[in-house]
Amino acid sequence: MKDLIPVTIDGHTRLCGLIGNPVEHTSSPAIHNTLASIYGHNLVYVPFKVENGYIENAVDGAYALNVLGLNVTVPYKSDVISKVVAIDDLAKKIGAVNTLVRVDGGYKGYNTDILGLERALKVAGAQIEDEVVVILGAGGAARSAAFLCAHLNAKAIYVLNRSLDKAKNLADEVNSDAGREIVTPLNISDWNVIPYDSFVAIQATSVGLSPNDSEVVLEDEGFYKRVQFGFDLIYRPATTTFMKLVEKYGGKSANGLAMLLYQGIIAYELWNEITVSEDIAKQVYKVLEETVKP
Ligand code: NAP
Repeated sequence: MKDLIPVTIDGHTRLCGLIGNPVEHTSSPAIHNTLASIYGHNLVYVPFKVENGYIENAVDGAYALNVLGLNVTVPYKSDVISKVVAIDDLAKKIGAVNTLVRVDGGYKGYNTDILGLERALKVAGAQIEDEVVVILGAGGAARSAAFLCAHLNAKAIYVLNRSLDKAKNLADEVNSDAGREIVTPLNISDWNVIPYDSFVAIQATSVGLSPNDSEVVLEDEGFYKRVQFGFDLIYRPATTTFMKLVEKYGGKSANGLAMLLYQGIIAYELWNEITVSEDIAKQVYKVLEETVKP
């Protein structure tokens, strides 16, 4: 466990932050300010609430104020793309930027949500390559998961959503990008047409989020019997009903806190040009766990 070095704000202090609306719920300051204290970096991270219509001014203003880097949250992850001077390929492909890294003349856009999910799955020991993946949901988080699993060469991906049209649109986009029919869209209730009896399931709907802890998007015992690994992107509560069902029928499970942690760590690595070790990641995880407790 590394000692924490308190940041003394002085003339050399670098500023990073989060832009979005709302931002009051964010746990990101805990990640970045803990990392700054561990490394002894003279850096502070603060949330900035950006009102509708001001995102362009916010990015220009941040650059003018010598801000080192920003995270971007809802509703600006797509809008901010028009303001970047360069964009990472993966972020461009999925059409969402959640991290801005200061470069000459402006900011380069990245999507560390997707990279954070990749690292979280790896740390949890969930293999994606050559595996069948079932994604529950077709919103922003499911979109990152679907592009990631295609990128990691999953054997087949099923996107199950309440609104089938959204699942179809997502499947079309990923399939066209992958150049093959890797994603099949389905209604959630049609899960039993999936012709495999073992898969990785990624729960990417907002069902089960605290305070509605007892809810789950799919209750069928037969589904959970096929889940070898269940990853719930929700982390409040720490053990969701989805995770309980996965474990009840013999699968392994993990919540989404590691995804949150690693999207932050990867942004911090990009801003400071460092690599954060797994030991330090574990130390920050403990702080984050305390921060998100209800
Ligand atoms: P989103 O874009 O609003 O998508 C919500 C998804 O949930 C949609 O697929 C929606 O289906 C589905 N849904 C909502 N209510 C439902 C219901 N009653 N029955 C069935 N399906 C329902 O949200 P998002 O940004 O993708 O986030 C989804 C979840 O992931 C949230 O809980 C969020 O906290 C979590 N998340 C975690 C991380 C992390 O770092 N761990 C990062 C991002 C998101 P329809 O399309 O039919 O409406």
